[in-house]
Amino acid sequence: MKTFGFGVQSADDKLGPIVFDQQDPRSGEVAIKITHCGICHSDLHQVRDDWGNTQYPCVPGHEVSGVVSAVGEGVEKFKVGDRVGIGCMINSCQVCDPCQRGEENYCDGPKSFTLTYNGPASPDGTNTYGGYTTDIVAREEFVLRVPDAVASEMVGPILCAGITVYSPMKHWNLQKGQTLGVVGIGGLGHMAIQLGKALGAEVIAFTRSPEKKDDILKLGADKVVISTDNAQMESMAQSLNLLINTIPVSHELDPYIALMRPNSALVVVGNLVSFPEFSPGPLVFNRITVAGSLIGGIRETQEVLDLCAEYNISPYIKMIGIDEINDVYDTLASGGDSEFRHVIDMETLRAHKAVKNDEATAIPNPDRGEVVTRK
Ligand code: NDP
Ligand code: ZN
Repeated sequence: MKTFGFGVQSADDKLGPIVFDQQDPRSGEVAIKITHCGICHSDLHQVRDDWGNTQYPCVPGHEVSGVVSAVGEGVEKFKVGDRVGIGCMINSCQVCDPCQRGEENYCDGPKSFTLTYNGPASPDGTNTYGGYTTDIVAREEFVLRVPDAVASEMVGPILCAGITVYSPMKHWNLQKGQTLGVVGIGGLGHMAIQLGKALGAEVIAFTRSPEKKDDILKLGADKVVISTDNAQMESMAQSLNLLINTIPVSHELDPYIALMRPNSALVVVGNLVSFPEFSPGPLVFNRITVAGSLIGGIRETQEVLDLCAEYNISPYIKMIGIDEINDVYDTLASGGDSEFRHVIDMETLRAHKAVKNDEATAIPNPDRGEVVTRK
């Protein structure tokens, strides 16, 4: 299947039109015509090789929304025409303990899980391409069913931003009436506020950006704290049961540790590279956990999609055309993004002149890995 997309050939490249061939759906796989794809800050990290593991060419996108266009032999969950989504994974070993528990995101099979793009995790010469494309194929276990109440353009951001903040709320057992802190109110943060409220928590938003305050309150936050204002930060000392930290770069953790109650957890989901030294004293005296969390399993991802339908939760998005993508990356990189999430309208890719004239750069074909059957 001839597939067009936008990708880069190196870390300092701008995203531009590419074309490749992908295998039609094999047994157990589903082909999806993509209608929309969200832009996650991880896409920017990956394209620029901030994590030192990018395989080029890199074709990002793991907030995918679309319609089933073909199904492989034996597919039972989906039929042509169904509205569906794909998040950050398209395959995993299916047989290890984490996979059996529904935590494919912690798969400890030989290649771990296969990322939607830049997978498999161990570089062996193969690569996968994500959702900034016209079409994608994945095994049916990794395809999410979209509830009628969720509009197609809203699906993508739930499948990465939404699940990444929902999973720690579940894992650390956020209870009704407890206090949730959210730091960094962008794509992940704005979903955390809405999901935390749906779970009955009091939600405190920590932002550097006073101009976002009104929107943050509209999202449902009970309070907005300007994180650069020491007096405001000190007024929240030892107030949080759980804190989800989405800041995408290295930063001081001590001011956030000071916000934590005894027996609480500060969960890092944003910065994956390094932190400055922080003092263990408050952790010891208050039995505070500093932890990390990676997206979420497929069962939990379906759960959060269904929860968004039930509670009428929608990402706040700005739709863009594929040609605007490099400008969005520049804004994200500057840290000054005033939108919560950008979503690409994939019809603009289909209408792109490089696609119409078949002038895109040809790149090697992707490899989705083996189709393994759950035992
Ligand atoms: P966004 O850029 O949409 O939001 C990040 C927010 O952090 C910004 O809106 C801003 O909030 C704040 N921020 C940005 N730059 C800085 C800075 N230099 N110093 C302090 N605060 C800053 O990003 P996403 O929400 O899409 O992603 C956030 C991070 O989470 C990324 O690093 C991404 O790679 C990671 N991620 C991790 C996942 C996981 O599984 N663990 C999954 C998905 C993403 P404000 O203006 O309110 O201060
Ligand atoms: Zn993401």
